[in-house]
Amino acid sequence: MARIIRQEEALREAAALLGAGGVVAIPTETVYGLAADAFNGEAVAKIFETKGRPRFNPLIAHVSNIGMATELAVFNDRARALAEKFWPGPLTMVLPMTATSPVHPLVTAGLDTLAIRVPQNTFTRALIAELDHPLAAPSANRSGRISATTAAAVDAELGDRIELIVDGGSAQVGVESTIVKVDDDRVTLLRPGGVAREAIEDVVKTRLEAVTGATVQAPGMLLSHYAPQLPVRLGAREVNSGEALLAFGPRRAQGSGQAAATVNLSEAGDLREAAANLFSAMRELDRAQATAIAVEPIPEEGLGEAINDRLRRAAAPRDMTGQGE
Ligand code: AMP
Ligand code: MG
Repeated sequence: MARIIRQEEALREAAALLGAGGVVAIPTETVYGLAADAFNGEAVAKIFETKGRPRFNPLIAHVSNIGMATELAVFNDRARALAEKFWPGPLTMVLPMTATSPVHPLVTAGLDTLAIRVPQNTFTRALIAELDHPLAAPSANRSGRISATTAAAVDAELGDRIELIVDGGSAQVGVESTIVKVDDDRVTLLRPGGVAREAIEDVVKTRLEAVTGATVQAPGMLLSHYAPQLPVRLGAREVNSGEALLAFGPRRAQGSGQAAATVNLSEAGDLREAAANLFSAMRELDRAQATAIAVEPIPEEGLGEAINDRLRRAAAPRDMTGQGE
């Protein structure tokens, strides 16, 4: 069972748990978050595992100040103006990632953009500063359930699955952050939330664009998103001539010796490790001189569900751009 500790007393313990790759429920002004070190792929995989999320959607990286944000994402003039006006606060910006950003690809679901914000809660900012890494944190509830705005609500949702809940009282805003994607030629409202559209429009001096079919709103939901260049063949029990192999576990598919390239998601068959390696593995195999990527069977249990969801999208026909959900 989780222990609930008041934020005034929780800093050292929460920082130690996060530094060791654990997940901790933390207060923010929007809703409680289920946080992990955004540089640590296996820690981020635990977020999905703990929530029971059936797919890898990109997460918001929480940072302690604008300086930390600029190490991870590229700010144009509008993004800088928005940060100065609304941070700390319930505004998330989707920005291009810097070339050297150490944010783990599981946080962005393999995208080259990063959703980032500075939360208001002073404990949470102190925690991020103490860890000196950003925290990836979706809402602290089981997948498909409503967000938690008190420590007791987090406990009811996840108390049997996590070690520590930091109690910062009721979330003052109580709804999720507003998410805008800031491009050089436009600003798009991806999700309404704690900061009003009009307040954002006042700062950027332009109307916020609505999400259209052409806009990739929640990229993880596009059926064929992250499709590698190469065709992907799932459930492979043998490797055909010319194919590269995405392997899983200790035993190899037949003919694996002739694979054009092989990456094993987890030799030990550990789904958490496999989740953490998934996006970089797909990228690496896509660069191989191969005709296709054969994927060994991955069990449809725990994180395997989200891994298989992602792989099915990678294998979907390329002209299918419809929403997956
Ligand atoms: P949550 O963590 O539940 O508050 O949800 C985060 C939201 O941010 C989801 O709707 C994501 O799809 C969205 N998001 C995160 N990163 C990106 C990104 N790089 N591009 C577009 N949307 C993003
Ligand atoms: Mg949520």
